Amino acid sequence: MSITQRNIMNTDNPVYDYVFIGMGASNGLMLLELIKRGYHTSKRIAVIEPHQKNTNDKTYCFWASPSDSIVQDLSEIISYQYRFVQTHGREEQSIENQPYYCIKSIDFYNHVIAAIKVHNIERFTDAVVSTIAGSESIQIVTDHHTVYGNRIFDSRPPNFTPSPDGQAYLLQSFFGYHIRLQNASLDVNKFQMMNFDVDQSGYTQFVYNLPYAANECLIELTRFGVDTIDSSYAKKILDEKINAQFGAYEIIAAEEGCIPMTVLKHPSSSDGRIIHMGARANLIKPTTGYGFKKMHAFAASFENQSKPNLTKNRFAFYDHLLLIILIRWPHLGKKIFTALFQKNSIQAIFSFLDEKSTIAAEIKIFASLPIVTFLKACVVYGANRVSKKHSYVIGFMLGYFVIQVLNPSLAAVFGYVGLFAGLLLVGIPHGAVDHLLLQTKSFNLVRFIVQYLLIIAGYFVVWYWAPLFSLILFVAYSAYHFGESEMVEINASLYSFAQKVYAFLVGLSILLFIIFSHVETSLLVLHKMNGVDMYINAFDFLAYKNWVLALSLVVLIPIWKFSKQTFLYLIVLLLAGTQMPLMIAFGLYFVGSHSIHAWGHITTKLKIPNAKLYLQSMPFNLGALFIFAIFLYLQQANAQLIQSYAATFFIFLACLSLPHIVLMHLFYKK
Ligand SMILES: Cc1cc2nc3c(=O)[nH]c(=O)nc-3n(C[C@H](O)[C@H](O)[C@H](O)COP(=O)(O)OP(=O)(O)OC[C@H]3O[C@@H](n4cnc5c(N)ncnc54)[C@H](O)[C@@H]3O)c2cc1C
Repeated sequence: MSITQRNIMNTDNPVYDYVFIGMGASNGLMLLELIKRGYHTSKRIAVIEPHQKNTNDKTYCFWASPSDSIVQDLSEIISYQYRFVQTHGREEQSIENQPYYCIKSIDFYNHVIAAIKVHNIERFTDAVVSTIAGSESIQIVTDHHTVYGNRIFDSRPPNFTPSPDGQAYLLQSFFGYHIRLQNASLDVNKFQMMNFDVDQSGYTQFVYNLPYAANECLIELTRFGVDTIDSSYAKKILDEKINAQFGAYEIIAAEEGCIPMTVLKHPSSSDGRIIHMGARANLIKPTTGYGFKKMHAFAASFENQSKPNLTKNRFAFYDHLLLIILIRWPHLGKKIFTALFQKNSIQAIFSFLDEKSTIAAEIKIFASLPIVTFLKACVVYGANRVSKKHSYVIGFMLGYFVIQVLNPSLAAVFGYVGLFAGLLLVGIPHGAVDHLLLQTKSFNLVRFIVQYLLIIAGYFVVWYWAPLFSLILFVAYSAYHFGESEMVEINASLYSFAQKVYAFLVGLSILLFIIFSHVETSLLVLHKMNGVDMYINAFDFLAYKNWVLALSLVVLIPIWKFSKQTFLYLIVLLLAGTQMPLMIAFGLYFVGSHSIHAWGHITTKLKIPNAKLYLQSMPFNLGALFIFAIFLYLQQANAQLIQSYAATFFIFLACLSLPHIVLMHLFYKK
């Protein structure tokens, strides 16, 4: 029964167990799977699709073993299958173990619609406008109705906005003719894949040929490019190609389409009851446009205990490299694909494209491709992944090491100047906007400053009377503070006690790594902190150096799981720091990672642009510098208390950062 015959706007609106938004490939496959399992007999199911789905708008092709469930499930609507393939510049190859199957979309839609009718599944010919998560169910608002569901399969096409930051995004566009040949005769068991013997026009262009009968075929011109293929251009190229290859022909139908090729990911739903499907679930392979087989596997694994791993990271990386090449050097596409097809068997290529190949097989494939082009793509990939803020720090490190090779003493000057500049630009400012972090209506700036200064002064006095206790306290709260900002940076939650302990361990490992990789200098600095030296002498730091360094790195490994980029950046900073003096190594982490990230968290959360926030930090930056000047003065006045600039700097930092750390903790918690 169609919903148009029902009045659903009454109070007893049904809540469907499953609601399908869209009824294209992915949701059609999922609906067939649920019916196969018999869900329709006990569950209420609804389908919302604005179109009639009565045109043959595409052909779903895939390779699979004849015993695979996709072939078994859809055998009655498979129109064509090919047991031989002709690839560019090679003799035909047998694919009998994995034939190439084609399903006309109209046959697929009719198959699904017939199932909907037979099983009395509710069908709404509406377009969904929004979904609203309620505590009991999901409310789906369409252009005509409101529907409620417990679980939603949402297949509305994703809207990718290519970002200008170099993310790989291009288009696979094609124009094809279904033709009848007048004289030529085709082998209906053999299809032609990626024939590059056509004009390239600065893009990567090739032809597919799928015979439908001895005198009928679909011949399609495809372009990988930032621009879509123009139909009048495609018609001309196809006409030339067909005439040259087969002679006279008659056009039965024309079809055209476009698939985004991108490594941009559509986010998954934050509500576990809404399941993204098909292209919306990023199931279309960026470099090929194939996705139908993955969608079938996704449906078959629905609610199964063991889910197939549908996206493996290393393949996303390979896809990204190829997209970089196709965007930057599109004329090289023909060379790369020619090498791929000429030097590898079609079985190896199918398995690679299915993301089921072994690493050894992948190395063999890459060894057959123009390696310099892929290395160049790796450089672009790496550069794209380094954000602007990190690129300054990486530039500083590279500059430091280059100068060190040429003139080591100049490198030290460069390092200290860089440290000072970093502290002025972001190190001190990230702590000089504390007054903005927790502002409430009753906020009083004067009271805030007085309290802040009292805490700093109080802690300074404690340093004087109980230096060892103050030092341990400083290390402990700095460790938590550094770890907390690292956790926020990688979007890890900090709710449970175990998560907080891990954050502390991360910060502690970073600090200990810096201290123990400069253990001799660290001991000198500690010796110059009055009241600490006698305890330092009692402990053999050097004996534990290697253990502490190794353990610190082990503690950081789980960060990799959350963000490889953050992990690699952190490790690079720490390792680079081992080759720099202690103060510069500490500054490299403190400014280059901690302060930059914390500044980013503050600007994002408070929605204040960098320049404006920097201006607002100015009075407190000057205040911090003033306090530092007092510390230096005290150093002169009381040589017993602070005897080195390094010790002065760390005690200054400890006193200044105590109120900042408390406020940042409350800010992150909020
Ligand atoms: C021309 C073409 C050829 C392709 N050929 C192949 C191939 O040979 N092999 C292969 O593996 N892959 C192929 N693909 C890629 C992919 O498999 C298909 O794009 C596939 O259709 C994607 O499935 P989907 O469910 O994500 O989207 P679709 O099949 O497009 O289904 C989405 C549905 O959502 C509906 N919808 C949209 N907006 C709303 C709304 N607001 N409310 C409700 N419903 C809405 C649409 O009407 C549509 O029916 C091809 C893609 C194209 C474009």
